[in-house]
Amino acid sequence: MQKDVYTFADLQDWPNATAGITPPIRLSVFGDPVAHSKSPAMHNAALAACGIDAQYIRLQISPGELADAVRLLPENGFLGTNVTIPHKVAMLSLMDEVDDNARKIGTVNTVVIDGKKLRGFNTDGPGIVRAVRSEFSVDLRDLRVMLLGAGGGAGRAIAMQCGFENCERLVLVNRTFEKAKALADELQPLFRSTKLLGPVARLEAIPWDEAQLKFQLQHTDLVINATSMGMKFSDPSPLPASILTPNLILYDTIYTSARTPLLRAADEVGARSANGLSMLLHQGALSFEIWFNREAPLDAMRIALQQSP
Ligand code: NAP
Repeated sequence: MQKDVYTFADLQDWPNATAGITPPIRLSVFGDPVAHSKSPAMHNAALAACGIDAQYIRLQISPGELADAVRLLPENGFLGTNVTIPHKVAMLSLMDEVDDNARKIGTVNTVVIDGKKLRGFNTDGPGIVRAVRSEFSVDLRDLRVMLLGAGGGAGRAIAMQCGFENCERLVLVNRTFEKAKALADELQPLFRSTKLLGPVARLEAIPWDEAQLKFQLQHTDLVINATSMGMKFSDPSPLPASILTPNLILYDTIYTSARTPLLRAADEVGARSANGLSMLLHQGALSFEIWFNREAPLDAMRIALQQSP
């Protein structure tokens, strides 16, 4: 019988666990927890739209099970898997090959099964580039970016991508300042050129301090929230409306509600903003393109995400 969430025990007894299930299970997302993941809705819509006889499921895998679970994928007929919290870092060391982007970011969110070989990729960084372009018709490389939550996994992927894109300016902000500072030190070689002439440095790490945030916002075009602040409707906005201005663009990676606390603050001052559904969509579309070497059916995927509870 089809399940909402499969387990490591199922993977160990896959032919029995999936007997009679159609279309055959070929793709998954590994997570802990994973029951909330919208990826199956998006990818199953894509598979159906492309007429591919396969389906995508959730796999609840604990950190202790990860290494054995990923090794069971080839023999169980999988083409690949996505990887979500908390496995993205650990997955990197389990790959036979890792693409350059994933290695530099230090995390894998997409695995391709190539015979018995496991190949790792990261589509989170390129996903934000496409999301920003599709939401605001601007390119990350032309923007002065302030990144909130530079100490987390998503924040790191976005910060590295800003470096790869050679964006105009990057300000890293994190509650635990030391993590933002360490990331800035790592990114320094990518920001050496004096692309921007002005009173502020191209790359800075700052502590979470309202006066400093307010100053830096005067030299910012795009604010990206990669903290988990705002996942609950009752959370405060990571930046108060009082320090926002209408010229800013605000992108919240959170997609649990249409108008997150940050986006509601943006509305108060009339600034443009979008939630993280487009990043989820584009990182998923890029995974699909890696697995099938064809363009992803974006409209079908977007509709499925919007309709997913
Ligand atoms: P993570 O590794 O646990 O990082 C959490 C980050 O949030 C850290 O920088 C942490 O700061 C910061 N933070 C947590 N609570 C905070 C608070 N009360 N005030 C200020 N900062 C706080 O998590 P993650 O995987 O990077 O995910 C972060 C966010 O990105 C989540 O909201 C997730 O939904 C979103 N995300 C979206 C997509 C997408 O496709 N749209 C993909 C991935 C992630 P410290 O370092 O000080 O702890």
